[in-house]
Amino acid sequence: MKTVATIAPTEQETDLISYNPATGVEVGRVKKTTPDEVHAVVTRSREVFHRWKTTSFAERKRLVMLAREVILADIDGIAKLIAAESGKPFGEAIAMEIAPVLDLMQYFARNAEKMLRPAKIGIGLYALLGRTSKIVYHPVGVVGIIPAWNYPFSIPLGEAVMALMAGNTVVIKPSELTPMIGLKIGEIFSKAGFPADAVQIVSGAGETGAALVEAAPDKIMFTGSVATGKKIAAAAAKNLTPVVLELGGKDPMIVFEDANLELAAGAAVWGAFCNAGQSCSSVERLYVQESVAEELTRKIVEKTRELKQGSGEREDVSIGAMSSERQINIVEDHVNDFRDCGAKIEIGGARSPAFRRQNACEEPPEGGTQNLFYEPTVISGATNDMRPMQEETFGPTLPIATFKTEEEAIRLANDSEFGLTASVWTRDYTKGRRVAEQIEAGSVCINEVLYTHGIGQTPWGGFKNSGRGRTHGREGLMELVQPQHIHVNRIALLPDAWWMPYTPTAVETFRKLARTFASGSVIRTTALLPQLLLRIKELLRGPRR
Ligand code: NDP
Repeated sequence: MKTVATIAPTEQETDLISYNPATGVEVGRVKKTTPDEVHAVVTRSREVFHRWKTTSFAERKRLVMLAREVILADIDGIAKLIAAESGKPFGEAIAMEIAPVLDLMQYFARNAEKMLRPAKIGIGLYALLGRTSKIVYHPVGVVGIIPAWNYPFSIPLGEAVMALMAGNTVVIKPSELTPMIGLKIGEIFSKAGFPADAVQIVSGAGETGAALVEAAPDKIMFTGSVATGKKIAAAAAKNLTPVVLELGGKDPMIVFEDANLELAAGAAVWGAFCNAGQSCSSVERLYVQESVAEELTRKIVEKTRELKQGSGEREDVSIGAMSSERQINIVEDHVNDFRDCGAKIEIGGARSPAFRRQNACEEPPEGGTQNLFYEPTVISGATNDMRPMQEETFGPTLPIATFKTEEEAIRLANDSEFGLTASVWTRDYTKGRRVAEQIEAGSVCINEVLYTHGIGQTPWGGFKNSGRGRTHGREGLMELVQPQHIHVNRIALLPDAWWMPYTPTAVETFRKLARTFASGSVIRTTALLPQLLLRIKELLRGPRR
């Protein structure tokens, strides 16, 4: 196995090499897809689309259920690959990626047909004129999926399954940090028996993603940062390609004094440190009611002290490595800023060899060139005017601030450009719901944190700069189809009153239409009948010479 230091420059140019962030050791390599090849991939995808869209829901379901079997047969192998390439703990790869996506797969396999069944729509008084309306859902075509590296398996795979069930074909550009997982996803669909090119993987860094956008797929599902989301939206606009953007978060957790503090502390630790804090819905700000702040902070620190950090491939490790030097630099910068602003580092606050020794985990293996472990860090005395309370950290930090009243908690939570998820902790469910509905976020949990992306049945997406559009649930499936309105006139014997030519009688009819028919009231509309007859007669008589 080669490490970062021993890769020859020529290999780097054509190959994308993936490294284990815990060890610096190579996980695998793949040839980069050139921009021309990306265009060819999209063209092939469109060709396959014309056949795939005609397959029955039963056939799509059969194949998706087979893809589940392929995953189930190799849960440990897939989890090991996720752990090796992303740095997250092996167990977490199963709990937070494989299990939720298996559930999503069975849900959409079993329910997409029902959700996309042509639907009759009530059209009010138009029905009295013998008209009916039905909505038919058509697939959009080629769906380009550009995910981030943090949930490299479940996010692209889940979106691909939804797209396929709706009758689309798929091109995925995995993150350059997790290319081997991208290939694994392609392999799963292929082993399940999906037609060749129904799901294609293109490999490379940002420029490969840009080439995919430029190749004008029919929809783009993007997951990543606000900055890249803006670039993609601008590039997609050139072809009017619609884009769903799943972007960053700075998710608040509000803990009231009547909450179960033991549970809240455990949830805060998991919510902040799961995937080394690299979840879009991580707890990034904790607001606790002043009267219980000390007690909650103490409990959180105690629980944090118990955590073992090390290579994600070990089963007894709770916190793995971060994904990249770039990411750990942001964490260091934010923690330093908290320190400079006068907040108190309760535990952690540095890269973590010391933490690893203290918890008897292994030293980095031979050949490892980097230390991407950052200690889980709890910070008290944070306030919203500190920069890292506003910018997404995306690392294992848990800053704690206090509030006095419900109104103040809501104001502090909403004081952010982001609005992805939030949580409210209280034993009073009426208060919990009242507060939740005032939080500007796409998902708000009461006495829960972080995991709702794992519920494929419910819509996922952000308010404010956390995104545009939705994935998951009925709303997410609707992003992957185009509704077509089929309108029928079942008694097509007479011309419509609003047809040409316009005349003074026509104008008077329109006036009365506006006052009666447009009221939605059958009784009021009966007053229109004499004028309507006059107008129809006029139309039947034809133009006067
Ligand atoms: P980036 O925005 O850097 O990258 C996201 C994806 O876009 C990657 O595949 C990346 O490729 C690709 N990309 C980069 N530049 C371009 C470009 N110009 N055109 C097309 N594609 C491009 O995000 P990160 O990977 O750093 O992910 C972290 C962010 O993702 C966080 O803000 C996090 O909150 C957010 N996120 C949001 C989720 C949600 O559901 N709302 C879920 C998960 C993460 P490459 O990696 O190869 O450079």
